Amino acid sequence: MATLRHQIATNVLTVTRFRELIKAVEGYRPNDNLDIIRKAYDYSLKHHRGQSRASGEPYLVHPLEVACVLAEMKLDPIALAAGLLHDSVEDTSVTIVDIRKQFGEQVAHIVEGVTKISKIDFASTEERQAENVRKMVLAMVDDIRVVLIKLADRLHNMRTLEHLPPERQAKIAKETLDIYAPIAHRLGMGKIRGELEDLGFRYMDPIAYQQVHEALEARRKTGEQFLARVEGIIREKLREANIEAVTESRIKRLFSVHQKLLRQRINVDQMYDLFAVRIITHSVQDCYAVLGAIHNHWRPVPGRIKDFIAMPRPNFSQSLHTSAIADDGTPFEVQIRTEEMHKMAEEGIAAHWKYKDGPVSARDEQRLAWLRQVVEWQRDVSDPSEFLSTLKIDLYPEEVYTFTPKGKIVVLPRDASPVDFAYTIHTEVGHNCVGAKVNGRMVPLRYKLHSGDIVEILTQPGHQPSRDWLAIVKSSRARNKIKHWLNVHQRERAIEIGRKLIDREARKYRIALKDLKEEQLKKVASDYGLGRPDDLLAGIGYGKFSARQVLAKLAPAATEQPGLPGEAKPGGISSVVRRVFGGDSGAISVRGHDDLLVYRARCCNPIRGEDIVGYVTRGKGVAVHARNCANVTNLMYESERRIAVEWARRDVAPTGYPVKLTLFCDDRAGMLKQITTVISEDNTNIRNIEARTANSQANIDVIMDIEDLKHLERIITGLRKIPGVHDVQRVQKI
Ligand code: MN
Repeated sequence: MATLRHQIATNVLTVTRFRELIKAVEGYRPNDNLDIIRKAYDYSLKHHRGQSRASGEPYLVHPLEVACVLAEMKLDPIALAAGLLHDSVEDTSVTIVDIRKQFGEQVAHIVEGVTKISKIDFASTEERQAENVRKMVLAMVDDIRVVLIKLADRLHNMRTLEHLPPERQAKIAKETLDIYAPIAHRLGMGKIRGELEDLGFRYMDPIAYQQVHEALEARRKTGEQFLARVEGIIREKLREANIEAVTESRIKRLFSVHQKLLRQRINVDQMYDLFAVRIITHSVQDCYAVLGAIHNHWRPVPGRIKDFIAMPRPNFSQSLHTSAIADDGTPFEVQIRTEEMHKMAEEGIAAHWKYKDGPVSARDEQRLAWLRQVVEWQRDVSDPSEFLSTLKIDLYPEEVYTFTPKGKIVVLPRDASPVDFAYTIHTEVGHNCVGAKVNGRMVPLRYKLHSGDIVEILTQPGHQPSRDWLAIVKSSRARNKIKHWLNVHQRERAIEIGRKLIDREARKYRIALKDLKEEQLKKVASDYGLGRPDDLLAGIGYGKFSARQVLAKLAPAATEQPGLPGEAKPGGISSVVRRVFGGDSGAISVRGHDDLLVYRARCCNPIRGEDIVGYVTRGKGVAVHARNCANVTNLMYESERRIAVEWARRDVAPTGYPVKLTLFCDDRAGMLKQITTVISEDNTNIRNIEARTANSQANIDVIMDIEDLKHLERIITGLRKIPGVHDVQRVQKI
């Protein structure tokens, strides 16, 4: 009996709620036929019958509330019907085929999209999560209504989260803050984003939430009185200036307060925007007039005036911001925008569905273009966690606003460089970028751009991107363009080098490479586990395979002739030891027939006797570093490119390597002579010597030819014995 009464009571509740929903839709879409919404309600009622939520309510309440949120977004009947049906495929015996039969292709398509997203587990490892966000983004590009329904679904689930056990609460809250709130933000839906964030914060970090909550509650009453006073003064000033406008005010949302406190390490009372008044005008012109009136009455806080009308934010929300200090010393923020801008800031991409049947405004197009770009840029990225971090950067823009010399705005991530700027202009401008002028002055490419900078990019036709640029760019666009270029071009070079190496090897055995058939190359390539002959050649060019070993497989008979040079060294690549020796002037070549280019890295200039490691560069051969070189640690993140090297036998090595020493010593008569004597007594050639003196102290740089580490140590010991020499240091980079 009790359950029946309960059922009847809730049925009355849902029927009432449904009537409200229909009334709301009739209000904003007076000419539409709403039968499909009624049909979807009946269908949902029938199929969710007997199911209940964790709260004990009938399940139907959930899709109904989701549809109500969609009605607040003023979406079309198709979206509302899909909202009412969104859980039917997942949670009842209904199939997509049934939905398609009953409600048509569009509704079925949207429900299918929502169902797919619901199956995604965002709380998985970062890699899986990245893949899932990618799917989500793809769904958005497909039909934005899928994501709007998912956001409404999440909003209602967050509003009723109290009924779930704490572990589930924390997981869902985290997902909301990580994925859904940023997407709402990016789509310009300020209202939903704000509510999602505050609800997420409450369950994700209850202690911090409580603290912020208490801090705000303690100030709420006086804050509201303060805001009422300020609003009163503003309305008076607007009347005087003859400007028609609506004002409203707010105390900052909990999650925003929390984030700001974390970021700036200030207390609540030091925040300029804890209290804010919003002024909504009829025209852009009025916005600026209001700003003038505000600044006339209150002293603006320097640096807090932001013109997001002239320079819209990446999510395309627009308004004028300024902060002022009231007579009692309380700071507050003023936001000024037109009605249209206000709608866009609160409702974002959903705002246009009221009037049209698709996202057709220029701004909606731009929003969708952003999504498409994110997907497109990521197509070549094989590492999913990189995708996620890129997306996170793009979702939480901390941007700088820069200008072209003609005044066009270029929005870039914080700390972006002129290279980022160049790639925003055009891919070719990026590739050919050789320098930049900021505000008329030359700056290095690693310069960090600031808001307001006027940037002029200097290009040179034929100039090519450098791997070093990856360390200075901040935008995903620039990073991906550079990586793509490097991949394509270095591979081409590697193939070319590989072809030359194997050609040279072949000539030793008097084999003409053109006599080798394509099939043979293919076969050997597949022996190495590679798909195409080009992969094999590239592998040789990168130094992964030895040209000699590949040739031995290509032409076994020809390479086994006795009496020809050759050193049998079977085994894997990692076991191959390259032998290195220095030529005069420090040139390096490889002993024997192993045609790898080897050179001493210029950052550390290792000499014989020093511990060395090799690093296979892309296309330039093997760089040999001193093991203690600072770059080694940085380079070795790609450990598969590390290669064992050793110094060749002594008898093959000719003269020495140039080594630079700096001596710190007293500036006294005879010092230079004593130094040169110590060096020349060891039969060592001095290439260059330079001295700088100040305050009777001297720094002396000597470059000399050194045979090996022992030789160098002998010289250093000798120099240190000279009276008045305080220190002797080797300068790695010459
Ligand atoms: Mn749902």
